[in-house]
Amino acid sequence: MKIFKFGGASVKDAEGVRNVAGILSRYSGEQVLVVISAMGKMTNMLEDLVHAYFHHTGSAIAIMKQIREFHYQILSDLGEDSIQSINDVDNLLLELECLVENPNNLEDFDFVYDQIVCFGELISTRIVSNYLLAKQTRNQWIDARNFILTDNRYRDSKIDWAKTEHLISSRLKPLAEKNLVITQGFIGRDSVNATTTLGREGSDYSAAIFAYCLHAESVTIWKDVSGVMNADPRKFAFAQLIPELSYNDCIELAYYGASVIHPKTIQPLKARNIPLYVRSFIHPDEMGTTVSNQAKPLNMPCYIHKSPQMMVELSTRDFTFIVEDTLREIFAMLAENKVRCGIMQNSAISFKFVSDQNESRWSKLKVLFDNAGLVYEIKEHLELLTVYNGVQTKTDELTAGKKILMQQNSATTLHLVLSHQ
Ligand code: ASP
Ligand code: MG
Repeated sequence: MKIFKFGGASVKDAEGVRNVAGILSRYSGEQVLVVISAMGKMTNMLEDLVHAYFHHTGSAIAIMKQIREFHYQILSDLGEDSIQSINDVDNLLLELECLVENPNNLEDFDFVYDQIVCFGELISTRIVSNYLLAKQTRNQWIDARNFILTDNRYRDSKIDWAKTEHLISSRLKPLAEKNLVITQGFIGRDSVNATTTLGREGSDYSAAIFAYCLHAESVTIWKDVSGVMNADPRKFAFAQLIPELSYNDCIELAYYGASVIHPKTIQPLKARNIPLYVRSFIHPDEMGTTVSNQAKPLNMPCYIHKSPQMMVELSTRDFTFIVEDTLREIFAMLAENKVRCGIMQNSAISFKFVSDQNESRWSKLKVLFDNAGLVYEIKEHLELLTVYNGVQTKTDELTAGKKILMQQNSATTLHLVLSHQ
């Protein structure tokens, strides 16, 4: 069985939906399970809705209207082939509307987020599934939440592998062997039946979970770029395709922020030796990148640029050293608030870390730091440049006009934290 994943960019409009159907028609005799994300930038729009609803900003109705119009436009552009979807999409939008019309007295932002944001995937998969039916492509729409079981760490849920694998192999496999399956990425559910999500861009990971549990022959992530590149082509003119990549190199690149693949995707595939193909949905004849354990060693440096980043320097108010027990406390606070540290550095009296600039977590953390007797200094609007597999190359050019605030070298990797001078 093959697992395909189509991201938001591949289904951003009616043309995209038709293109996905065209790609699927090439595999008509095969067993395929398809994981689809929310259409275009719908997850961002739903995030705005969550924000408006949770913080009572009064703009929820207007955002709801945009969400409705965006999907209606796609349905209208699909014309007759979307007749079946109109009902389904209407019902889902109604459900969402009822949810956000109710006054919000809930305290857990992350819980509310997951209950709302999942609608992007529920709607997109309905539209694609119904379109395929209209084009005589038999398929079965499946609610991924019935199979992907997680804990209740909302917005960053961990998979309950035993339960998920049992459900997928006993209940989903027989269906997927008979029919093309269309299902959602990114979403799951917890033990009290609430919706959970796997973290932004988590649909790649969903595809890997399905692949692992179904012992699939391969996973293909269909993207708007030609495969995994050694740098983001929008930022670096010299970017080139990496035709073959080992699981380990791929994990490292994703972990440091190369945005092609969700970092968690590779581990399950590596565990069952399932190759991953990253290919272009615009040029489906091209081979793209193959990630497997048979790849030749990586023969070029890879550049990963992330911004905006923030650097936080912590020290103790009473001038005591920052040693194991303080570090343990700091890491507990960061983990509880789901802050990921890109890179870290410590000395006797300070601990520095760099992370994505994310204001919503900060107000809470500042209080926690204060209570723990920690003094903090924050620098914002920074860039993190990681050079993987090529520590000597081209960095002078890339850092020109910028100040290096932190630098870290290892045998394979160079990290630079940069600010504009
Ligand atoms: N729709 C979700 C997001 O945009 C998940 C995904 O696309 O992978 O983050
Ligand atoms: Mg998406």
